[in-house]
Amino acid sequence: MAPFCPNCRSEYEQEVERCSECDSPLVEQLAPENPDAEPRIPLVEVYEASGDREALVIKGLLESEGIMCSLSSDVPHSVIPVNIDGLGTVRITVSQRDADRAKEIISVYRMENGAGEEL
Ligand SMILES: [Zn+2]
Repeated sequence: MAPFCPNCRSEYEQEVERCSECDSPLVEQLAPENPDAEPRIPLVEVYEASGDREALVIKGLLESEGIMCSLSSDVPHSVIPVNIDGLGTVRITVSQRDADRAKEIISVYRMENGAGEEL
């Protein structure tokens, strides 16, 4: 087992005893950061919708393909599905393993809906 620095989490060769970065004594094994937490899947932002309405359409689209996504908005009351188009952008994030597929679905959606027709 190669030793690790408990401070900066660098991995070292077997014979090294102190971290060259921060001079901490190395340990055999790093303590898990969150032993009780579920393994966290990194989230990736795949699209920035121009409002809740578009975001909800895309959310529905992704979910119908089996991709879970979450919406986050700069507008604090976005839980209420009122029409706030133009008031703020809504970021759509999916887990990293779904990101490529989600982007594909969104780009198909945008093509079918004539995105690019900038007003
Ligand atoms: Zn260190």
